[in-house]
Amino acid sequence: MMDRDTDSTMIGETRARILEDIGPGVTLVAASKRQPDDRIDAALAAGQRVFGENRVQEAETRWGHRRDKIDGVELRLIGPLQTNKAELAVTLFDVIETLDRPKLLKALIAAVEKTGASPPDLLIQVNTGDEPQKAGIDVDGLGPLIDLTRKSWPGRLVGLMCIPPVEQPAAPHFALLKRLADAHGLVQLSMGMSADYALAAQLGATHVRVGSGLFGQRPAAAPA
Ligand SMILES: *Cc1c(COP(=O)(O)O)cnc(C)c1O
Repeated sequence: MMDRDTDSTMIGETRARILEDIGPGVTLVAASKRQPDDRIDAALAAGQRVFGENRVQEAETRWGHRRDKIDGVELRLIGPLQTNKAELAVTLFDVIETLDRPKLLKALIAAVEKTGASPPDLLIQVNTGDEPQKAGIDVDGLGPLIDLTRKSWPGRLVGLMCIPPVEQPAAPHFALLKRLADAHGLVQLSMGMSADYALAAQLGATHVRVGSGLFGQRPAAAPA
């Protein structure tokens, strides 16, 4: 494990390089899942303010108390959301990137009504590779879900998000997501991770989600 000083310096330098790669029009979302707190603090010290979290519970533990002490933090949920976590999710996140089914939309609407939270911006996750196991709505179901969201969500629907299949080249998936967003008048495109964020930025990403490429390797997952 790196010591704290090395850690901060490295994260600051790495972040600067990534920002240079993606250019000024693209937002770096620091994907912080399972990263130790000292690396999060190092990223904050380097000026990073936009963070992507995969799990509602982990996000609450990490940001519940830290957040009020720092100006301008934006939290984005980038992992799958279960309906029973909807209330906590709408109170915690500024943006939810992983809307992918009508049932979840309904739960989010109910959660906003019940908690009085201001509704987070939403992105719809699209399963561009049509993978049976993967989260995200199929391309065929996207239009209807966009219509439903625009009709019933009290906040804004701002964009689309995707995670291309690992074993395929990412470019066609990024290009497809861009076409879909343009066709539906959606502005935000969340695509690209450590291995392909520069490519994603070239192909129209407005947000790239970078984890290990910013913070370093994640510790192994805890057993479920
Ligand atoms: C973990 C994760 C990332 C970041 O992955 P890296 O390869 O570590 O950059 C981006 N998006 C989502 C949805 C993730 O779960």
